[in-house]
Amino acid sequence: MKQAVDLPGLSKAEVVSFLETIGEPAYRGRQVFAGLQHRRLRSFDEMSDLPTQLRARLNEVARASTLTIESRYVSSDGTRRYLMKTHDNLPVETVFIPEERRDTICFSSQSGCPLQCTFCLTAQLGLLRSLTPAEIVEQIIIALNDAYGVGVKPPRGTNLVAMGAGEPFLNLDALLQALRVMADKDGLFIVPNRVTVSTAGVVPKIRELAKVPERPHLAISLAAPTDELRNELMPINKKWPLAELLSACKDFERTLKPGERFTFEYVMLAGVNDSPEQARQLANLLNRHSLRAKVNLIPHNPAEPLPYRPSSEDTVEEFKSILESKGIHTYVRRPRGRDIFAACGQLAARHSTLLEPQTIGA
Ligand code: SF4
Repeated sequence: MKQAVDLPGLSKAEVVSFLETIGEPAYRGRQVFAGLQHRRLRSFDEMSDLPTQLRARLNEVARASTLTIESRYVSSDGTRRYLMKTHDNLPVETVFIPEERRDTICFSSQSGCPLQCTFCLTAQLGLLRSLTPAEIVEQIIIALNDAYGVGVKPPRGTNLVAMGAGEPFLNLDALLQALRVMADKDGLFIVPNRVTVSTAGVVPKIRELAKVPERPHLAISLAAPTDELRNELMPINKKWPLAELLSACKDFERTLKPGERFTFEYVMLAGVNDSPEQARQLANLLNRHSLRAKVNLIPHNPAEPLPYRPSSEDTVEEFKSILESKGIHTYVRRPRGRDIFAACGQLAARHSTLLEPQTIGA
């Protein structure tokens, strides 16, 4: 028997041609695509505009959803964290962050992660597997349905960040396919300009992304101003050290649109990478490569058993002012959802035992 096709990961044209392979006219394909992506329905049985026989046929040859929601946690600041499961029972985590003018959904590109960043809990899972385009798209559908109701248009714009579990550049083809699906104006209509992909520094893929015409924004997780320290915190640096990484960033910079910058993320670890000297080293590093970038300082989110503490507010402010005095645009990222372990580096922190979900299912 042929394997069922996961329709949430297909573009409108691909859904249309899939429907044609089972003898249906193009308009039925467009209806199914709208049902999945615009009405955000999670089963063919809910698509009441389709004939009953077609719904039954689709149930035999395709899937309208593959992820299930295992738990949902709601923070006192409105952040929602979801633990989902794939059909083969692997964890997928997604975070919905409401803000005044927009919502941000932080999604995962892999279940677990093969990279070994020492400040990140996901690293401890190792790589379970890369997610499919459908599994990436479904995370967004599930979060929007939960926040606003099935198919209800969000009152604000939706930004996406590929900063959940996994290294997106190790699953770039699936990610770009998911972004093409989500950009469709007859579907979710979240265009690549609203998406940021964060990498630990897979250099060849930075150059590959630079060539994609409709591409998302880029963020690089830096975490250290020297190779010596970065080798320790982010072992991927041994493969692609800072000089190579920043030279790829320089090439990427040539493709930026007017006014666009890319971002360096810098997690602040007390006594490890947060001294005034390290701030000067970081500023000098970026200035040496004359990069049109901004720096986001991310207070570390403590998560046992990781051996780090967050830098104090004063230390973060001093670090920021040193960078700014050297002409680097710097922002301090406010931690969100710490109480539900939804903040950066905390995913995979609490799967079942330590936190009771406030609500189960969505
Ligand atoms: S920080 Fe990102 S790249 Fe590094 S281990 Fe965690 S999920 Fe993987």
